[in-house]
Amino acid sequence: MIRRKLIAGNWKMNKTAADGVALTKDIVAEIGRIGSVDVVLCPPFTALESVAKALEGQSIKLGAQNMNPEKGGAFTGEVSAEMLRGLFVSHVILGHSERRTFFGDTDAFVNKKVIAALANQLKPILCVGETLAEREAGSTLAVVQRHVEQGLAGVTAEQMAAVIIAYEPVWAIGTGKVATTAQAQEVHAFIRDLLTKLYGAPVAQKVRILYGGSMKPSNAPELLAEKDIDGGLIGGAALEARSFIDLVKAAE
Ligand code: PEP
Repeated sequence: MIRRKLIAGNWKMNKTAADGVALTKDIVAEIGRIGSVDVVLCPPFTALESVAKALEGQSIKLGAQNMNPEKGGAFTGEVSAEMLRGLFVSHVILGHSERRTFFGDTDAFVNKKVIAALANQLKPILCVGETLAEREAGSTLAVVQRHVEQGLAGVTAEQMAAVIIAYEPVWAIGTGKVATTAQAQEVHAFIRDLLTKLYGAPVAQKVRILYGGSMKPSNAPELLAEKDIDGGLIGGAALEARSFIDLVKAAE
């Protein structure tokens, strides 16, 4: 099964709207209409509108880094799926480990967001992955299984066509420590098997499973050559045009 590779840049809490537009213009100048790889930029909320304008007419898509599952109302500081759609957002990162760690996102809350994203035609990028303590305790696969099963509770086989999963070992995020290719492939294959049990092989074979955790142009080719690694969710290396473009080219 050939799955189209996807490279998503998670800018986290970096870049003003003006900085984001400058970075987007540099990226667009080289790979704006790239046809062979799906590319998604995920700026902070405050830069979404400006980056959307800079992406007009290009094939690069726009993603958000989070959203609230409620339709609207008294949720100070939150942003709904409908608000994101209004800014031409097509993807949304959900369950990132930084949200789970610093902002208390539980599997149940992440699941509500996944359901709300799908109901609003947003493609969720569901992040799953173990901490260092969990890996050392031998519970990597159990943690990943819980994140996947609970994150996708109530998602139908048809809806899975819009779901992207990102395996991000927490100990590899922003640390410079990359999972070895074998460690990453083992978990990706485990996720694919789990999806096969949950949804059947035809569905599971189509789901893109991204790797995230200190991915950069130097280690990307080896990771992306693995059978079940269908792209990358990129943090640090997405903040600079050259490294992000090179990562996209590595996925071609
Ligand atoms: C991320 O934030 O999703 C991530 C993978 O970050 P980094 O590439 O910096 O490790």
